[in-house]
Amino acid sequence: MRSFTTLLTPGGFLLLAIMAVLQWIMPPESLSALVQIYPYAVFGAGLFFGFRFHRSQLLFATLVLAVADRALLQYAAGDGPAEGTARIVFNAAAVLVPLNLAGLSFIAERGFVTARGLLRLAIILPQLPIVALLCRPEQAGLAALLEHRLLDIPFVGGLPIAQPALLAFGVAFGLVTVRFICRPDLIVGGFMWALVATLLALTTGRIGAVSTLYFATAGLILVVSVIESSYVLAYRDELTGLRTRRALTEALLKLGGRYAVAMIDVDHFKKFNDQYGHDAGDQLLRMVAAKLTKVLGDEGAFRYGGEEFCVLFPGQSIQDAIPHLEVLRRAVEASSFALRDPDRPAKKPKKSSSNGAPSQTVTVSIGVAEGKDRNTDPQEVIKAADEALYRAKNAGRNMVSV
Ligand code: GH3
Ligand code: MG
Ligand code: MG
Repeated sequence: MRSFTTLLTPGGFLLLAIMAVLQWIMPPESLSALVQIYPYAVFGAGLFFGFRFHRSQLLFATLVLAVADRALLQYAAGDGPAEGTARIVFNAAAVLVPLNLAGLSFIAERGFVTARGLLRLAIILPQLPIVALLCRPEQAGLAALLEHRLLDIPFVGGLPIAQPALLAFGVAFGLVTVRFICRPDLIVGGFMWALVATLLALTTGRIGAVSTLYFATAGLILVVSVIESSYVLAYRDELTGLRTRRALTEALLKLGGRYAVAMIDVDHFKKFNDQYGHDAGDQLLRMVAAKLTKVLGDEGAFRYGGEEFCVLFPGQSIQDAIPHLEVLRRAVEASSFALRDPDRPAKKPKKSSSNGAPSQTVTVSIGVAEGKDRNTDPQEVIKAADEALYRAKNAGRNMVSV
């Protein structure tokens, strides 16, 4: 469910908004005023946030969209790129922009003043002189490949973009979909919608104000998804998917009346880390977080820091919370954590330990405390739960203490 909303927002809504503006709100004669500001603001914001947030994906994608838009306006403006340079520039943009966007959606974020960042730039920038070369009369044969009919289908022939461009868009959508399935995050969702906006820009049948608005909207979608993902990162822990300590602080402020708080700490985690390595430690934290969500739900579970977790029980007393915490404690104890490769599959294999992978019993200690009303300082309740946790540790671990 969360990944579905990740895909639809914010890109889907932004694109719908700009389509509504074009269709119903903005009379065509006022579009020229909008294109004086909107693309510059968006492309400027893309370059600025890409640079400031060290997001090479955003920086390079903005560069690709802005250059494509300006090149099309410069060389292919008007109703349908008729022939010559206009046609070649249009066909090249229709093949290259989707492929570049799809490629950028795949890259791991590594900044841009690094060897990898410069390598990406070295792939993107030479495309400009290559397109310029294709426009020379002696390269007409190569340029004709950009509109080569791959299939003789009447429907496809009537579209405003040539078949190689359609193929490029198909490949790009396929790649971004695969990327989204492997890793459903806001930025990949943004790339998906940026591709849709790019397709709309190139299929309006005219290069001008409307195509520019769609290119700029593709950029806006990426800017917004980067800003939104930075915001989400502050509230969702990347490793475990649980809410963060910052989210806990805010949730505590909203609590009124009675509530219980539990602090949960993995037993002998340092030893586990030392014995099996940090990656295995990370896997274990994910396993504990998954058990927490399964037993206690996603809303009240937080990663407090390191291998410590916190759970809120609004409206409940210590006695109400203890049975749930006991279920959690036993579920972790029963899990017999099987060590697998660092790229441990999301799903547990059918026979987890039959391949000889070592298996390790993991336990947690839990301390629980309660707040009685609005006047109780939530930080004091957390402290009391922490002290209870300390008692559980001292009493031999793998238990719930009050
Ligand atoms: P105890 O039973 O008393 O809780 O012992 P412990 O070893 O679990 O206690 P301690 O708090 O000393 O150890 C916490 C360790 O957790 C230290 C640190 O190296 C490790 N750690 C903290 N955050 C992470 C993380 O995100 N990933 C991994 N793999 N290890 C982490
Ligand atoms: Mg600890
Ligand atoms: Mg510990």
